[in-house]
Amino acid sequence: MWASMEGNEDPGFMRRTAAGPLVRPTWCEIDLGAVTHNLVQLRAVVGPGVSIFVCLKSDAHGCGATAVALHCQTAGADGLAFGSIGSAIACRDAGAGLPLLLYPTCLPDQAELLEYYDLMPTVSTIEDVAAWSEAAKAGLKVFLKIDGGAYRAGAFPNSAPMVANAIARSGKLKLAGVYGHPMANYGHDSPGYVSAQIASFAAAVKAIEEAGIQIPIRMVSSSTILLDYPDADLDGIDPGRLVVGVSFPSTRDRHKSWRRAVHAIKSRLVMVKTLDHDGCVPEAPFLLRRPGMRLGLIPMGWSDGYPARTPSMAEVLIRGRRVPIIPPVHSEIMRIDLTGVPDATVGDEVVILGRSGSQCICLEELCNKWGMADSEIYVSLVKSLTKVYLNN
Ligand SMILES: *Cc1c(COP(=O)(O)O)cnc(C)c1O
Repeated sequence: MWASMEGNEDPGFMRRTAAGPLVRPTWCEIDLGAVTHNLVQLRAVVGPGVSIFVCLKSDAHGCGATAVALHCQTAGADGLAFGSIGSAIACRDAGAGLPLLLYPTCLPDQAELLEYYDLMPTVSTIEDVAAWSEAAKAGLKVFLKIDGGAYRAGAFPNSAPMVANAIARSGKLKLAGVYGHPMANYGHDSPGYVSAQIASFAAAVKAIEEAGIQIPIRMVSSSTILLDYPDADLDGIDPGRLVVGVSFPSTRDRHKSWRRAVHAIKSRLVMVKTLDHDGCVPEAPFLLRRPGMRLGLIPMGWSDGYPARTPSMAEVLIRGRRVPIIPPVHSEIMRIDLTGVPDATVGDEVVILGRSGSQCICLEELCNKWGMADSEIYVSLVKSLTKVYLNN
């Protein structure tokens, strides 16, 4: 895994190595095989006629939007959706050839950029239609979002036909589809509320079609909706978290064996020393055990998303054994107690999440100890770390 620089006089090699993924020995392993598995499962549950737009918000939930995008493209996705225009452009530049949808997070003054990169913005209002068609040069495909009761972006159902009609008459804009995003998390997920939002989306779609406007794709299912409301599949779905294996409690038969893309979080011991206290103060920020307490350091800390309030009983694995983290965790470094692993040496692999020998620290263990949902760990910890991709 470690490139040797010895005997290599090419300065470009040095620069490439310095910019390479593992110059800092702390990383997160992402299993793209899990993404393939989840996409195959999705295709099996929705059938061949439904377009799968993979939502890559939050840098694909921390897993790395570019790598996940290119992988999804070869694994059966029909489109990709983004919360960040920058992320969409990076994926296009990296070779994503699929239709790319932008959720409402950019402005009409970027219309030319969207035309150049062939990105489809979201419109919600008559004013949006006017602004985008004014700003577009050649023409833009757009999605109309419908607000079925989440009160975020989107046209309310009673104005949706009017906005769809304005798109049809604009001359510059072309309706690529309509989508909605029912609120089904954040504690506002009573079945009645979710069903009402889906029904209100369906009513808006019907009204648009009755006004004689053709809708190429109707899409309303994020992960939660697609797991719990199979009737809402329509022509397309746009799940995000499920594709990278965030877990969902589900009540229907669609709770298959979804696999986690986050495979492991690892680092390496950068220092080992035995405490002798000679010439050192007898006080420490932790309980000093003596004689012979062995301290190790790993280059990872709260600025990487590790909880600043170190959970009690937090552990890592080294040489197949569990060792305690000694709080406090610092910004880019943490101590571990190596007293029980006398053979540990600088350079040894340290597992924060994943397997070492017969031991395993699974994501559920971190969620329990840290008091966090797995999706929070994806976006706080995984997102900040350098990624190494498996099964690409
Ligand atoms: C975030 C988002 C999704 C995906 O949600 P998941 O819970 O990650 O599946 C789908 N559609 C829209 C409009 C979104 O904003």
